[in-house]
Amino acid sequence: MDAVNLLGFDLQGLAAYCEQLGEKRFRATQLFRWIHQKGAWDFTQMSDLAKSLRDKLAGKAHVTALPVISEHLSADGTIKWLFDVGQGNAVEAVFIPEDDRATLCISSQAGCAVGCRFCSTGHQGFSRNLETWEIVAQLWYAEHSLRKRFNTSERIISNIVMMGMGEPLQNYAALVPALRIFLDDHGYGLSRRRVTVSTSGVVPMMDRLREDVPVALAVSLHAPNDALRDQLVPLNKKYPIAELLQACQRYLEKAPRDFITFEYCMLDGVNDGPEQARELIALVKGKLPCKLNLIPFNPFPASGLKRSSRERVQAFAELLIQAGIVTTVRKTRGDDIDAACGQLAGEVQDRTRVHQRMLRAPVVVQASPSSTPSTSGS
Ligand code: SAH
Ligand code: SF4
Repeated sequence: MDAVNLLGFDLQGLAAYCEQLGEKRFRATQLFRWIHQKGAWDFTQMSDLAKSLRDKLAGKAHVTALPVISEHLSADGTIKWLFDVGQGNAVEAVFIPEDDRATLCISSQAGCAVGCRFCSTGHQGFSRNLETWEIVAQLWYAEHSLRKRFNTSERIISNIVMMGMGEPLQNYAALVPALRIFLDDHGYGLSRRRVTVSTSGVVPMMDRLREDVPVALAVSLHAPNDALRDQLVPLNKKYPIAELLQACQRYLEKAPRDFITFEYCMLDGVNDGPEQARELIALVKGKLPCKLNLIPFNPFPASGLKRSSRERVQAFAELLIQAGIVTTVRKTRGDDIDAACGQLAGEVQDRTRVHQRMLRAPVVVQASPSSTPSTSGS
């Protein structure tokens, strides 16, 4: 049997594993703390761990990070790592330091099968789901390598966003134990409010997440009607907006915050006009407590789409704000190292031909009939 990477066990899983080895379950807590709180990987250094357990672990188990292919440091302090996940696939994680928090953006899949128009990962196609240990290894490596870099034993990463490559709710089985490790007081001890799962709207899994680990939820909306959303986020054909909003409503019953965050990528002449703002207002106002996060589109060569001008983003935001909807415009970070939202591409062996399908379909999306698309850069 292959040696097992202990980064893949949540505390319960590790306790069950220790029991299998004939050890008391509580030993797992010590081991878990060594691994996640101290960043230890060498069992011989885990001084207060029973020698019997250390001996049993040797050869059968290991704590191993993902190989780092590259590290890019942005002028604004953002750091992007490219991790090798084997067979020609690589995924990215991004560290974003701010005044009052430090966020790690984590990947959940090598590629993504949803295939959103405006997303570089979507254009790469899908290769495979990451395993729990591969999701956790991104945080484990980032946290402990940063502590070394900044010469501190204090916790550095305060927030996690599942906004890297992949659709986390299409890798649910691996995601849930990873979230538990992030939240566990013996692990990273992050509160549910500080861990955000971002989804393009996998409705049944939103319901399961609400029951299993109701962390903060961000929903990638990007369009105020089904005709447009069908084209931007193909998953909308399966779970259209009305169903998605009902799932958001249900999620709120257990959510750590009393609103849902909607992400809305601002695409010039596609979804960023006053007509779409009004449609968006009609969709949510008085119906669903929510916050709108407008993301200026981060272009990449194959997309054929353009970023909305600052003026258009501002005008759109103002309409929403006037209607009483809390609206923020996301600051773009790590631009100079292609670490911004939707620019993560890694390297993916597409096994689903998503990319080829996208190339066959027209890349520029028509706005809804009632609006007038602007010309680029206007
Ligand atoms: N699959 C999940 C999480 C990863 S994407 C999801 O779609 O929600 C994280 C966020 O980045 C999503 O809101 C996504 O729509 C947005 N995004 C993707 N490509 C982008 C781009 N090129 N520019 C700006 N935001 C983008
Ligand atoms: Fe996948 Fe999210 Fe990119 Fe859409 S935006 S292709 S769901 S990673």
